[in-house]
Amino acid sequence: MKKYVSVFVFIIIGIIGCINVSAFTRNGNGNLKLITSEKINITVMEAPILVIENGPIQKIVDDIQWFGQASVRIQASGKFIYIDPYLVTDKEPAELIFITHSHGDHFSIDDIKKIVNNNTKIYAPKDCCQKLISEGIVNCKEVVPGQTLNIDGIKVKVVPAYNIVKNFHPKEKKFVGYVLTVGGVKIYHPGDTERIPEMKDIKCDIAFMPLGQTYTMQNVEEAANAVLDVQAKFAIPIHYGMYEGAASDAQLFKDLLKDKVTVVIKECKNPLQH
Ligand SMILES: [Zn+2]
Repeated sequence: MKKYVSVFVFIIIGIIGCINVSAFTRNGNGNLKLITSEKINITVMEAPILVIENGPIQKIVDDIQWFGQASVRIQASGKFIYIDPYLVTDKEPAELIFITHSHGDHFSIDDIKKIVNNNTKIYAPKDCCQKLISEGIVNCKEVVPGQTLNIDGIKVKVVPAYNIVKNFHPKEKKFVGYVLTVGGVKIYHPGDTERIPEMKDIKCDIAFMPLGQTYTMQNVEEAANAVLDVQAKFAIPIHYGMYEGAASDAQLFKDLLKDKVTVVIKECKNPLQH
């Protein structure tokens, strides 16, 4: 298993030397000779070594399952967390489900039914919650952009998601993305969005990013710049290869972020994926 460890080592070496030399003299050859060295005391001190490790982030990245489009499962802090479950194949029961908006490839009641149980907590925009409740799935809480939640020790920031150039996701619809802080690791799922100014206020360790260029970003470069905006250490491309965007886009995304961000291209076993 690849292991990425960033080690910042600050070593301060202090040499405290106390050399008490009383005199030099010349020997018979005329060369200088140290004739008294009463005290030589050299101390080498090392400062504490600070290690910042990416291990917990890498583990979460490794465990992430991508089902196609924006549908992902995160495994962290002993929980299965689904965001926009759609075409779910591995059906681990969900402790938490987050929905970004009501479009059919993000809000699938059939898929939610596959993973929900009596203990599952669901967070979604108002119209999604209303539909779920009408289907008898009552444990849904409405979210709006700007909210901050604390769910069983997981900090959740609800962030805006919208188009600037296109009209598929108008800002006034209050579609959302999420920044989850799980075990100290910040994970950003942007929902369906273009590169919006609010991204500069988001800081995360892992960023999912949509590569479809019909409904979300204008192009792959914009998606790569959005990853830089949120200062992610790891980026996982999503929302491509099914209805829009191709595998070559994911490779371009990786190339654009080379030496800046670790891009992990997840395999999608969905039969609709090409
Ligand atoms: Zn959408």
